[in-house]
Amino acid sequence: MDLKLSPEDEAFRAMVRSYFDTEYPADILAKLANGQSLGKADRQASERALNAKGWVAPGWPREYGGPGWGITERFIFDAELERAGAPSVVPMGLLYLAPVLYTFGTDAQKARWLPDILASRTYWAQGYSEPESGSDLASLRMSAIPDGGDYVVNGEKIWTSDGHHADWIFCLVRTSSEGRKQQGITFLCMDMQSPGIAVIPIITIDGGHHLNRVVFDNVRVPIENRIGEEGLGWTYARHLLSYERVSYAHVAGKRRQIENLKRHSAEAPWGDELADRRQSFGARLAEVEIRLDALEITVLRALAPLSTGAAPGDEASIIKIAATETAQAITELQVELAGVYASPFFPDRYRADWRAGLEMIPDFAAPGVADYFFTRAQTIYGGATEVQKNIIAKQLGL
Ligand SMILES: Cc1cc2nc3c(=O)[nH]c(=O)nc-3n(C[C@H](O)[C@H](O)[C@H](O)COP(=O)(O)OP(=O)(O)OC[C@H]3O[C@@H](n4cnc5c(N)ncnc54)[C@H](O)[C@@H]3O)c2cc1C
Repeated sequence: MDLKLSPEDEAFRAMVRSYFDTEYPADILAKLANGQSLGKADRQASERALNAKGWVAPGWPREYGGPGWGITERFIFDAELERAGAPSVVPMGLLYLAPVLYTFGTDAQKARWLPDILASRTYWAQGYSEPESGSDLASLRMSAIPDGGDYVVNGEKIWTSDGHHADWIFCLVRTSSEGRKQQGITFLCMDMQSPGIAVIPIITIDGGHHLNRVVFDNVRVPIENRIGEEGLGWTYARHLLSYERVSYAHVAGKRRQIENLKRHSAEAPWGDELADRRQSFGARLAEVEIRLDALEITVLRALAPLSTGAAPGDEASIIKIAATETAQAITELQVELAGVYASPFFPDRYRADWRAGLEMIPDFAAPGVADYFFTRAQTIYGGATEVQKNIIAKQLGL
């Protein structure tokens, strides 16, 4: 595989780099460089800035507002965004739902939802998992029963990321219990303001509020909010998941973290603290970097068929495992390097001046333990590692 970029691609890279250096909101970059978290308003500001440039949805077809880039340009763009330290877009609407909408939705649904997603006017949540239906998603029970022009929805979703911020939620619901359990699942979009929806927070091990339980009690949802045909939701859900799994790679972001670790591990006082275990730390850092190189090549291989308009294949499962395990290994090294400065809960880090007087602390120290804890979830969400291994084994005929 020839990984050299053409002069045109190099020019494209220079243009994107210059945008992040000079035009992209500097306050958002500064917050992240300072180890602070971004709120909903920051994320929307970031997406609106990208959208003003026409760059917020690199994977969308041009007719719906995508920039019309090829695969190489998309890869370069993602790499430059992460290299600059800018946040990735919130994936639920832009990366997960949109491909389902423009592939399977009606013209009216596309016109109703895609422009708002593009302009970050709406925030979406993903309602797949239920209590006792996570890995075995097809066993889900939340019911939707037709009644006049509506479905009446009853049941519960769990682990709903950002459900407390969401204006809309796309859900898998059961419209029939006949036949195989994959049949009878339907893909339904619901307005979170609908009467009968309650959002209950779940606080995770990092101390943050990212997740929720969402309870649906006789919620009326117009039938025109159904994507595609009744009972074919499983097909659409699988389409969506293949995009979701490839989206976890974040190669350039990991590269940035590794460079940061290298730099800090060479500096005092970190260099001194590492003195007695420098060799083992260096060896593990090198191993993570090699894993990342392998991940990058795998991502390039998986992206190649997308240029023909195909959805990602089962390589997505390999990427999911490699990317999430590498992410976890990086946070382990960060916590080890931060040493005594790594604090499990450091609420002050949400303030811009949290490092005042503590400037020698690397940006990853205070968020380090929280990030370490939260990154444990990467090998669970989007399909747990064991489940990805089952998919790979099936492909290999094992
Ligand atoms: C931070 C976070 C964010 C999430 N966000 C969302 C969201 O926005 N929307 C949403 O719908 N869901 C979300 N989820 C839910 C996530 O998709 C599920 O947690 C995941 O699918 C696993 O399901 P489960 O938690 O029910 O665990 P289980 O399915 O009960 O799995 C428990 C363990 O058993 C193993 N296991 C299960 N089945 C098999 C098998 N067949 N072979 C081998 N091992 C197996 C699993 O690998 C795991 O280790 C999120 C989860 C987390 C942690």
